[in-house]
Amino acid sequence: MEKIMRRFLWAGCSVEKKINWIAWDIITTPKKEGGLGVSKLEDVNDTLLLKWAWCFKTGGNCLWKKVVIGCYGLSRNWSLLPCTASASGCWKQIVKIGEKKIWSGKTLGSYFEGIVGDGLETKKWAVVADRIRVVSGSKSLLWEWRAEPSSDVEVSDLFNLMEDIYDYVWKGGLDKWRWKASGSNRFTISSARRLLSSYSRPVIDMQMKWKCWTPLKCKIMVWRAILNRLPTKVELYKRGVNLQSVVCGLCDTDTETYTHIFTGCFFAAEIWSRVDSWCRLTPSIVFDINDLMKITKSQPLTKQAKYILRGIIFTTLWTIWNERNDRIFQGKRRRATEHQNDFVFLV
Ligand SMILES: [Zn+2]
Repeated sequence: MEKIMRRFLWAGCSVEKKINWIAWDIITTPKKEGGLGVSKLEDVNDTLLLKWAWCFKTGGNCLWKKVVIGCYGLSRNWSLLPCTASASGCWKQIVKIGEKKIWSGKTLGSYFEGIVGDGLETKKWAVVADRIRVVSGSKSLLWEWRAEPSSDVEVSDLFNLMEDIYDYVWKGGLDKWRWKASGSNRFTISSARRLLSSYSRPVIDMQMKWKCWTPLKCKIMVWRAILNRLPTKVELYKRGVNLQSVVCGLCDTDTETYTHIFTGCFFAAEIWSRVDSWCRLTPSIVFDINDLMKITKSQPLTKQAKYILRGIIFTTLWTIWNERNDRIFQGKRRRATEHQNDFVFLV
């Protein structure tokens, strides 16, 4: 399925073989960390299985839980979810997801934590409050043995249990479950996805901000430009595409790199100069597209004005790229002044 997704991203419904411009690992990295935030199907599936596990632990006494307990529950089952060795089908998949280890070395099940309330809940196999007496601040443990622990294993288990419960601070209320990967302690799809996608994530250093008023296709183009993954002539040549020339489609004088097109080219310089004076920006030195992304930070503007300015910068980049494409593929030429009029109308 992911192979089809990857293919669709670059080739759409076409059967032709197209260049994969960006590694799938980068595309599936969250936006905040420089990727495009597309989910891996395996992560989506794991997240939804985890949600079933969470619903089982916290979903009250509904019918489907009774059926699961009826089919797989044992009288003394201490695992996260009830299951038998002979279980099969989707319930077994849900149980197995708790055993899956992630990047931290922990299992996903370990992110579910049971919090003991006041120990007074009924319908439990053992009520903790019945076993602990506190007299003048000192605790004593009481047992009603059917048979005294005698083997090494039983005595060891008893000591471990006493160690666990003796210093436990009771927080009161009913027993409950918390999901440790979320600040709210409640399971959320987004927190589970974050947890799963932390695995083998590439480190991407970039200045991209997605909070912007331009259409998504414009933002994706800017993101690709920052990563130098647009099909400029130099990049096409590097990937083995047979080209007559790698000269810039805008000025016909210099080599068409992404840095040249968006900052070095005299056509781009004229557009940026018009944008600067129209927006009354304080002058800044720009060498490449990352410098352009930093302009909003360096300007003494309000948050709202910076948001608007970011959109203007993105739109300008979009315009420059489209002008280049129009000149190469359709033979159309527009002047910088015409583009500036479009901006004023748009904003
Ligand atoms: Zn040029």
